[in-house]
Amino acid sequence: MDIGQIYKKTGALLEGHFLLSSGKHSKYYLQSAKVLEDPKTASIMATELSDMITKANIQIDTVCSPAIGGLIAGYELARALGCRFIFTERVDKVMTLRRGFEISQNEKILICEDIITTGGSALEASNVIENLGANIVAYAALANRGICSRTNSNDKTKKECKLPKEIPFFALENFDFEVYEPKECPLCKNGIKAYKPGSRGN
Ligand code: ZN
Repeated sequence: MDIGQIYKKTGALLEGHFLLSSGKHSKYYLQSAKVLEDPKTASIMATELSDMITKANIQIDTVCSPAIGGLIAGYELARALGCRFIFTERVDKVMTLRRGFEISQNEKILICEDIITTGGSALEASNVIENLGANIVAYAALANRGICSRTNSNDKTKKECKLPKEIPFFALENFDFEVYEPKECPLCKNGIKAYKPGSRGN
């Protein structure tokens, strides 16, 4: 399955000149919600991800996603794995588990995101449910953004990666785009204006 092609075709892989939330500039931007617009595509990708996890012999009781970004990917992955799905959410910026979701002692939980950049939100979600007795057995995402390294891959781990090294991390594709400091950005040098994704209503 060519995940890069799917991202391009669905308009989830944008090309232009972007100001990222890190303050850096990039020629590309991933708008993962777009790749999940079509439930059939979402289901096909989640099944592929589920196969990777099953082949690695990892037992999962529950998939947990940090809202909002991880909800659809996580829900579809739970469906493919045949397990329960829960989510954490931010209340006044603090990640929490609400809505009556309960965790059993040593429940085997996989944390799922749409995309892993540094893994910050995924780590916050794991801390919340670990404190409630869960056992984090894996991380998963549809796409990896070139900062963390996937299990069984040649990806390099960059220092910004927040995922714990000892826990497996699965993703369908690694999008390791170059990012630039604004003063070194070749697109800026060409006089193209950078814009913040979302600022045009997308
Ligand atoms: Zn630039």
